[in-house]
Amino acid sequence: MAKDEIESFITQFPIYQYQFLKPDEIEYNDRVRTICKKECPRYGSSWSCPPAVGTVEECMERCHQYDDVLFFSSIAQVQDVMDLKESLATKAEHEKMTHLIEQYLREHQVDTYTLSSDSCAACDKCAYPKAACRHPEQMFPCIESHGIIVANLVEKFAMDYFLGEQYIVWFSLIFFKNAERQTSTDTVEETPEDSAEYESLQETEEPLSAGDVPEGEESQALVDDQENEESQPFENDQEGKERQTDETDQDGQKPGTASKV
Ligand code: SF4
Repeated sequence: MAKDEIESFITQFPIYQYQFLKPDEIEYNDRVRTICKKECPRYGSSWSCPPAVGTVEECMERCHQYDDVLFFSSIAQVQDVMDLKESLATKAEHEKMTHLIEQYLREHQVDTYTLSSDSCAACDKCAYPKAACRHPEQMFPCIESHGIIVANLVEKFAMDYFLGEQYIVWFSLIFFKNAERQTSTDTVEETPEDSAEYESLQETEEPLSAGDVPEGEESQALVDDQENEESQPFENDQEGKERQTDETDQDGQKPGTASKV
């Protein structure tokens, strides 16, 4: 499957920003484990976290088995980003989106390996370590569990990490194989199930798009871009990429386009 087909598919979702990268462009840092161990209450209590996911070296080797990575973010509005309970409650929408994109790739014979923000919350109480994971098909290991510092990755690819105290930004990394550009005869059509699933998703919860922002200094930039004809959300073409570069402010942190960075 070609990357442009993946891009075409993901534009139906309220993705804020995305980027294609290579697994070896990601830094896998063993020191992150020290932070996990000392500061995260989920350490040693989930199949999606260390030590269950293996050593950082093993995680890196796993990731390097794939050819490409789709790195994307979505945003959710909260009263206070420091309110952990409120912030975590918004993660489900991002996880559903991640699952649907991964499912689409797998249905098209693309091997995937997915990491997502924070640890798995599929069960009220994780089965680790007494029993096997109950839903391995739903479980995404935490990005940091693989020694990956999201903030560094975001900076490296000029994406946004912080959009103000009323927004939380969720991230996913979908590692995938076999995404070489195909000939036109290989084009895969979207299945009815793909559309039906997201329509169902939309009915249950209203996804937040880049245009759904309230008043505020940081968020106003989003509104401005949304209203700007030259900065259409979900724009995939090269022209769009160049525009975004032109619009980036001196800090390289101007938020605003729900598009490839
Ligand atoms: S699916 Fe359940 S058992 Fe598996 S990692 Fe998630 S919370 Fe734990």
